Amino acid sequence: MAAPRTFFVGGNFKMNGSQESMKKIVGALNENKLNVGQVETVIFPQNLYLIPTREQVRKDIGVGAQNVHDKKNGAYTGENSAESLIDAGINYTLTGHSERRTIFKESDELVADKTQFAIEQGLTVVACIGETLAEREANDTIKVVVRQLNALADKVNNWSKVVVAYEPVWAIGTGKTATPAQAQEVHAEIRKWAAQRLGAQVAEGLRIIYGGSVNGGNCKEFLQFPDVDGFLVGGASLKPEFHNIVNKW
Ligand code: PGA
Repeated sequence: MAAPRTFFVGGNFKMNGSQESMKKIVGALNENKLNVGQVETVIFPQNLYLIPTREQVRKDIGVGAQNVHDKKNGAYTGENSAESLIDAGINYTLTGHSERRTIFKESDELVADKTQFAIEQGLTVVACIGETLAEREANDTIKVVVRQLNALADKVNNWSKVVVAYEPVWAIGTGKTATPAQAQEVHAEIRKWAAQRLGAQVAEGLRIIYGGSVNGGNCKEFLQFPDVDGFLVGGASLKPEFHNIVNKW
């Protein structure tokens, strides 16, 4: 039997926080008993706070960037370098978050380029996919998710460095979660896609996490579903309930 997948919980702080609040969040993570031995736990602060967070947070919690460029260091004013992240001990990044795709117009292809380049530099990537409300209502959820995944698969050559985050756009920051059964249904389709496109072994090992208004209260209901391998948490990751989410597993 294949090794079980390690549960993964990410905290996406988005463009939030101050030096003061980051100290409090990091202090609480350091003080609390967290199930990090069993749950790969990674926080994604905004860039300005990456290095102090890495220096101050306990070593068994990973620190990641929210976005990364797809090119080597050079003349790319304002961009975020994968090489420099690795240099600073920041070993994870998000790619393709729906806010990047919608607000910053990132295409499936750019997200795939970023993902592959970040992997080549040594980062583990949480690659985000998901449909909008209009796409769900048009019954296009699986079509959209498969399109986003195929774009990734055209470029990515090491899936052991990828965690797929299924985040329905209509559930992000809205307080509306997909029901655990809705999440499971899409996660199962993602795993089916992975088996067909990447092979059974990759599919079995691929972690597929759910994001969209996950909190300390609702996370438990997802855990009974076999294809939910963790969470990407936005709003609730800035609050003490993040600890409950990590410890619920
Ligand atoms: P949310 O955000 O938990 O605030 O809905 C999730 C995300 O955007 O990753």
